Amino acid sequence: MSECLFCKMLNGEIPVPRVYENEHAIVIKDINPQAPTHLLAIPRSHFSRPDSIPQGDESILGNLFAAINAVVHREGLAKKGYRLVINAGSTAGQSVDHIHVHILSGRDMRWPPG
Ligand code: 5GP
Ligand code: ZN
Repeated sequence: MSECLFCKMLNGEIPVPRVYENEHAIVIKDINPQAPTHLLAIPRSHFSRPDSIPQGDESILGNLFAAINAVVHREGLAKKGYRLVINAGSTAGQSVDHIHVHILSGRDMRWPPG
């Protein structure tokens, strides 16, 4: 059994409602939302962060972004504007070591991010 929180969600050990899913990824609501819409797009393959993906397997990220595009259109975020964030490493704020893209929308965003 994996000790990874998102792998447990992916294999059904921890049930979680899915906003969207396809063969490559699931999208869920963040439990601690930082914007009116805060989703997490999670690839089904376990890699801790983008730079852990072996050379040649980068299609994982392309497939993940295809799922993000589907959700962004389906949830009406394409019109509103949205921000995508990947935290990589604890100094960048990563707390779950399984690649995920935050999809944030519904409020004005500041730049640079904190
Ligand atoms: P990170 O800090 O690694 O970039 O993002 C991990 C995200 O997962 C955080 O925004 C956190 O709120 C979210 N999270 C942690 N535990 C759970 C959970 O049990 N369910 C859901 N839906 N989100 C979670
Ligand atoms: Zn995992």
